[in-house]
Amino acid sequence: MTPSVAVIGTGFGGLAAVIELKKRGFDDIVVFEKADDIGGTWRDNTYPGAACDVPSPFYSYSFEPFPVWPHRFSRQPVILDYIRHVADKYDVLRHIRFSTEVVGASYDADAGKWTVELSEGEPVVVDVLVSAVGQLSRPSYPDIAGAETFAGPAFHSAEWDHDVDLAGKRVAVIGTGASAIQFVPAIQPEVGHLSVFQRTPPYLIPRLDREFSRMHHTVFEKVPATLLAERGTWYGVTEGLSVAWVYSKSLSSGIKAVSKRHMRKQAAAKPGLFEKVWPTYQLGCKRILFSSDYIPALAQPNVDLVTEGISEITPTGVVTADGQEHEADVIIWGTGFKATEFLAPMSIKGDGGRDLHDEWSEGAHAYYGMTVPSFPNLFIMYGPNTNTGGGSIIYFLEAQARYLGDYVAHLAGTGTPLALKPEVEQEYDERIQAQLSTSVWSMCSSWYRNANGRITTNWPALGRQYKAQAKFDPADYEVVSR
Ligand code: NAP
Repeated sequence: MTPSVAVIGTGFGGLAAVIELKKRGFDDIVVFEKADDIGGTWRDNTYPGAACDVPSPFYSYSFEPFPVWPHRFSRQPVILDYIRHVADKYDVLRHIRFSTEVVGASYDADAGKWTVELSEGEPVVVDVLVSAVGQLSRPSYPDIAGAETFAGPAFHSAEWDHDVDLAGKRVAVIGTGASAIQFVPAIQPEVGHLSVFQRTPPYLIPRLDREFSRMHHTVFEKVPATLLAERGTWYGVTEGLSVAWVYSKSLSSGIKAVSKRHMRKQAAAKPGLFEKVWPTYQLGCKRILFSSDYIPALAQPNVDLVTEGISEITPTGVVTADGQEHEADVIIWGTGFKATEFLAPMSIKGDGGRDLHDEWSEGAHAYYGMTVPSFPNLFIMYGPNTNTGGGSIIYFLEAQARYLGDYVAHLAGTGTPLALKPEVEQEYDERIQAQLSTSVWSMCSSWYRNANGRITTNWPALGRQYKAQAKFDPADYEVVSR
């Protein structure tokens, strides 16, 4: 048989899946994209200063090196251009149905197929369903009293309203994570006054960015080993960070010393600033951030870093626990994403009508983040426990695409749907949760953990270990009877 495949999403994950399948000769692929353009998170996050904090020679597909990155740490428009270039080169676009949201999917045991329900048009029936909707795609707005009463414009960093002119305005930024530390320095020079509301400060280390000149581009192009060396260096550095987060407290204390020196030096311009921005939790527990311009922005005279908790929002500003109102014309939510709500809000019904979200009521789990018992022929790209604390997610996505390719090739040979054996998944889940329980991520709250405290996003070891272990073995699966 030639399996038909539906892929949901056109970010790095969706593209990796489609390209791998096409390379193996499978062309009966339809891709559903809720927006009218490709790119996933790199299409949506257009906030000023948006950039990747993993160097591009590593944050790119291994099969599509790109010698002409303008910077080591690429800005969002360049990454989106790269995604478009890849989609075009590998003939992905003709498979995509734009402005089509998948609202749900159910497995028909008699037919051994998935029926995919769409926001537009008739349901589509396929053999294999691949979700590639990401972990960081649905903005999270905290539940703060009075938020809906605010009279001015208010928007999330991932839904930046470029029609709002910030020049000379009083702007309140809520949150100080990876997104905020990028857009705060970008908007600080133009706004009238900036109030940055910090609940927990991030650890920062210098961003060793550099421009790649025309000479670099020529060398990268003519001597591909040089680009490969740059890629390999950053692979090594990020694997080193993973060692620190999971295995080595002493390596972690070295990084902490670098961070402290960097942050103290940058905060020296404003008395009392270092004491406010220096974190007290275990380094690495929340994502460590690369930035050389965030603290200098906080040190500017038109910026207040507010560390009092927020008690309410009024039509005219933000009130903190000490009763002070911080007046604002605009509120920007830098409050992150609903990272632990995998595959929401889609309804996914597996064998016997089992609801995936019921199965995951205590927290999402899947075999190497990809397959789930009772959900035959369902695949998840960037699923539970496949995030990396510092590396390139694209490295993980390629390993998942390879697994998917092997699975679909097997299915093409046998023609019978497979479901993961429950005991395989259980043994795997217990093993990785045991590893995670002693990792640094268990030591504070963050988007890595769900409301129960379970770490559902991160992989507990090195990227290299994921790539080596996540290999399709038909023995892990049982044939599903129709
Ligand atoms: P985030 O890291 O989850 O940060 C959210 C911020 O909002 C935190 O500072 C959080 O404080 C704060 N917050 C949440 N609820 C709040 C409340 N009720 N009151 C006050 N503050 C509140 O989100 P993000 O900055 O959007 O980044 C999310 C992830 O996206 C990153 O970790 C990264 O993986 C990815 N990202 C990557 C890049 C890149 O360069 N590759 C850039 C941006 C984002 P607490 O810490 O106290 O919860």
